[in-house]
Amino acid sequence: MNPNSATSQRCDVLIVGLGGVGSAACYALAKQGYRVVGIDQFDPPHRMGSSHGDTRIIRKSYFEHPNYVPLLIRAYELWKTLEFEVDKQLYFPTGLLEIGPPDGVVLSGVARSAAEHSLPIETMSMQKAIERYPGIAGSDAWQAILEKDAGYLLVEECVAAHLQQARKLGVQIRVNERMLRWHADKHGVEIQTQRETLQADKLILCAGPWASQALSSYPIPLKVLRKHLYWYECPSACYSQDQGFPCFFYETPSGYYYGFPDHSRQGLKVARHSGGQIVSDPPIGQHTPDPQDRRLVEEFLASYLPEVSLQLRNWSGCYYTMTPDEHFILDRLPDAPNVVVVAGLSGHGFKFTSVLGQIASELAIEGHSKLDIDFLSIRRFLGSLR
Ligand SMILES: Cc1cc2nc3c(=O)[nH]c(=O)nc-3n(C[C@H](O)[C@H](O)[C@H](O)COP(=O)(O)OP(=O)(O)OC[C@H]3O[C@@H](n4cnc5c(N)ncnc54)[C@H](O)[C@@H]3O)c2cc1C
Repeated sequence: MNPNSATSQRCDVLIVGLGGVGSAACYALAKQGYRVVGIDQFDPPHRMGSSHGDTRIIRKSYFEHPNYVPLLIRAYELWKTLEFEVDKQLYFPTGLLEIGPPDGVVLSGVARSAAEHSLPIETMSMQKAIERYPGIAGSDAWQAILEKDAGYLLVEECVAAHLQQARKLGVQIRVNERMLRWHADKHGVEIQTQRETLQADKLILCAGPWASQALSSYPIPLKVLRKHLYWYECPSACYSQDQGFPCFFYETPSGYYYGFPDHSRQGLKVARHSGGQIVSDPPIGQHTPDPQDRRLVEEFLASYLPEVSLQLRNWSGCYYTMTPDEHFILDRLPDAPNVVVVAGLSGHGFKFTSVLGQIASELAIEGHSKLDIDFLSIRRFLGSLR
């Protein structure tokens, strides 16, 4: 494929889904001079899928698996480049305090990734953590790990920045246009939308919670969970970002909870990472609150962040798209290698979207990535298609 070949109706790469991943893929390909058409059923950044709600945690000492760390190092570099290009702060290095039993999933996983990749972390007793951050609580038997090189990204602003740069570089962005079906063979790919038929050499499918619909002929066991974000009043300044309060992630006997310091007087944002209601087909419409989820979050606050007022200021619904092992799918389809799939980000994918866009572009153009992504292969779920 020649990135500088003359313009024709057929483009080099079609990208379906312009949320976190798709917006970054548009930008990565456009930067290399490829002719790209990106399509979304809504007008991103929007509130229907998985990339909204003000902020997303970004961290490097990855408890989920040390294999993610090289991807994260590249993701940090790419976010920095994007910030420079759009002249806007997208990443806020507040630090992240991870709290729980020292032999639990989180703390032992953070320590393992940090040791394998020589990443700086600070481990402290719970008592020391409470002295440093008055306003937190936890069992005396727990510990805390502070990762200074962690913080949050402004989620909608990141999607908007990738799309803005992609448009500047000539990507045709089609919004409020839904892909109905796609077809691939050795000559290329074709998609049918409500309005038109489009052809290209390659297709990148990054449909977020709608991935199962886009991949309906593949037996990929994705599960969509409805999740909830809450913002609570903070009468005390102890949770303020201006006072140095960090992002936090707790492993508790009733599950994982995480949140963000009060910034711009919006209140403390908190959510339950565990749990969630299964949604068989993500509805195209408004999210609905879940009183049971809210009750658990307020019990968490009362126990571990007791200075937060339980006066709810804001709420938002969102979707996680889970794979059975909770690791991403990032691969070409074995029987259609001109189709790249990025799916099943399992509730921890946003921080990676800058690098996932770049890797998706490499898979589409070169057929492989410079980064090691074997552990994210789609083949682990495809049984007979292997
Ligand atoms: C409450 C919550 C908190 C989270 N917290 C964190 C966090 O702190 N850190 C972190 O790293 N990650 C976090 N995540 C996960 C992260 O936000 C997601 O993994 C990531 O945003 C997913 O991006 P995506 O591009 O796959 O999906 P989306 O951003 O949802 O994009 C998919 C897009 O595809 C479009 N689409 C789908 N089907 C079609 C079609 N047929 N035709 C046209 N368009 C289509 C949709 O309209 C949508 O715009 C969180 C997620 C949630 C819900």
